Amino acid sequence: MTQETRPDPEARNPRRDFLGKSALGLAALGAAGLAPASASAMSHGDKKKGFDLFAAPLDGKGHYKLPELPYAYDALEPAIDEQTTRLHHDLHFQGYTSGLNNALGKLAAARDSGDFGLVQHWEGKLAFHGAGYMLHLVFFDGLAPAGSTSPSQSLRKALEKDFGSFAAFKAHFSAASRTVEGSGWGILGYQPVGDRLLVLQAEKHQNRTQWGILPLLTLDVWEHAYYLKYQNRRAEYVENFWSVVNWDRLAERLEAAKGLHS
Ligand code: MN
Repeated sequence: MTQETRPDPEARNPRRDFLGKSALGLAALGAAGLAPASASAMSHGDKKKGFDLFAAPLDGKGHYKLPELPYAYDALEPAIDEQTTRLHHDLHFQGYTSGLNNALGKLAAARDSGDFGLVQHWEGKLAFHGAGYMLHLVFFDGLAPAGSTSPSQSLRKALEKDFGSFAAFKAHFSAASRTVEGSGWGILGYQPVGDRLLVLQAEKHQNRTQWGILPLLTLDVWEHAYYLKYQNRRAEYVENFWSVVNWDRLAERLEAAKGLHS
């Protein structure tokens, strides 16, 4: 991995206790694309540990690590059986972790060599494994032994604001999860620009994206964005895009995004 892609462990990984985060509130949790943890779990910090909310576990070289479960393999019985949790975490989650690191390494090698011939392939792998890594991070961190937590008043209020009632939220989330076509996820997420909680369905989970990413710079490559001037010469449009980027705004967005870490 090249220097530019290697996250600075000091900057990226303030080893923050999952349980002391209530001051950040739902907005900050959601802005990082992470489903809010139960507020009551946060208030019982001495009893439970979870994953870091904003910092994936990284090794000294900036590679993602498989986080250890914050509970025993059989802690979710009978709702989720021990063998499933063991296989799901140790094999499937590990697979996404290794795949994400591999894709990042291949893309770093492409930048080093200047050979982007396989960029589409590795971007696909990056999306598949990166999305899988982040969604499993939130999934396993979002679970706790039955009866050990309950929704706080403030969490209920936040859910009522955007879903009408706590029951309606659960019904909506359940229906969305039940009706995913094929493989996928039911997801509660926070949309920063509308200050709104949303229930989403994800079919598969990659589709060339990753959950939890904050967009910092975007380039529209739908034909409507360039066809009148460039017709089929998208590469020329992409090259010229760089001449009109607002680097000041990009720096501001990056600073704001990294502020979620501080
Ligand atoms: Mn899974």
